[in-house]
Amino acid sequence: MKDTYWEGETETMDRRALQALQLHRLNETIASARNSDFYRGKLPVRVERLEEIETLPFTTKQDLRDSFPAGMVAVPKEDLVRLHSSSGTTGRATVVYHTKRDIDVWADLCARSMYMTGMRNTDVFQNMMGYGLFTGGLGLHYGAERLGALTIPASSGNSKRQIRLMCDFHTTAFHITPSYALHLYGVFCEEGVDPKRDLPLRIALLGAEPYSEGTRRKIEKLYGIDAFNSYGLSEMSGPGVAFECTYKEGMHVWEDAFLLEVIDPKTGTPLTDGDEGELVFTTLRREGMPLIRYRTGDIASVNRKGCPCGRTHRRISRIKGRSDDMLIIKGVNIYPMQIEKILMDIPEVGNNYLIEIDTVDYLDTLVVKIEVGQKTFHGTISELEGLKRRITDLLRTEILIHPKVVLVEHGSLPPSEGKAVRVIDRRGEK
Ligand code: ADP
Ligand code: ZN
Repeated sequence: MKDTYWEGETETMDRRALQALQLHRLNETIASARNSDFYRGKLPVRVERLEEIETLPFTTKQDLRDSFPAGMVAVPKEDLVRLHSSSGTTGRATVVYHTKRDIDVWADLCARSMYMTGMRNTDVFQNMMGYGLFTGGLGLHYGAERLGALTIPASSGNSKRQIRLMCDFHTTAFHITPSYALHLYGVFCEEGVDPKRDLPLRIALLGAEPYSEGTRRKIEKLYGIDAFNSYGLSEMSGPGVAFECTYKEGMHVWEDAFLLEVIDPKTGTPLTDGDEGELVFTTLRREGMPLIRYRTGDIASVNRKGCPCGRTHRRISRIKGRSDDMLIIKGVNIYPMQIEKILMDIPEVGNNYLIEIDTVDYLDTLVVKIEVGQKTFHGTISELEGLKRRITDLLRTEILIHPKVVLVEHGSLPPSEGKAVRVIDRRGEK
């Protein structure tokens, strides 16, 4: 048991015991949240059954912004030891505060997650996520130290230095955004280093942005490693909310620390397991800033089946995107991830792409710029035209509208060193 799991008793707890624990912790959370300015007067004293969570109000990103800087803090200021702020991908940043115990619990969840992927204290872990206010850096940093891995706090960017660190210290595991992993591979090629041949790499933790199964497979193949999906958000502390086990069929949500619901993003109605909807989380172990029914905007579904790994915590599917990532082009709803899914299954497609939307003569236009490898780019015109037609047809079948496909040379699109910007929407700019 000890070798298989980091915290075996909790990870494999039977569902009824887990739910009893959740109810107990939910009531602790409610009691503590009632001390904050934001939740005061909004919550019952306690709930008798877990299902009663549905009677509690949602908390939104806008609520977090409105209670800036500290309206949701539930403990005296002297108990707070750290704050983190989200990167503000979709608007003004929000702040989350932590007590010493919060940081401790978070480190445990991260260590548990990494252990689940097969990382051990013999690993050399290079953390290529931004350190600082962003939670991706410090979050897994403390988790990796707790695990006992030799941790390199490389932070993001500076690709040549990343490669040098990997070579010098024989990195075996790394944490990176999928878009940066694809970009970094190009730099590996320029430097004449083959990560598969020249380095002892074995595990990559990929998170912080949506990506397709094809992207994972591509990264695994390029680097000769196993890549695991890692999901988190600063409102739920950061990474360590849900992580894949070695079966790689969905991410186990740590349900002893987060109460998970899936709702219809339009009506707010709870959905049953298996239906795709918006993830909603309630913190069950956070003292500094408890959050009740936080609407993440992230779209996914819950897997009803048990996992062969023996962990009883439910798994969620890959995140399809945020509800506000959805594009409406010519009246059709499209998620950028649908486009990535198609592209990454085409072998000639390189490691970067960009979606541009504009208005021409009052009509929406969709241009998909795609990097292709040197050999393909310098092939014959008819080969290139053929590839372009093939991609256009595949995309049209998936998204139901006709995109203009532009094939560009490797390295000509803006590189990603953190969260990638995949969509440029110029409609409404003129
Ligand atoms: P911001 O909201 O400003 O981007 P965060 O760092 O809190 O700041 O980002 C968390 C968000 O990143 C999640 O809500 C989700 O949309 C996205 N995200 C994180 N991990 C993943 C993942 N593995 N797959 C897809 N999206 C992810
Ligand atoms: Zn599992």
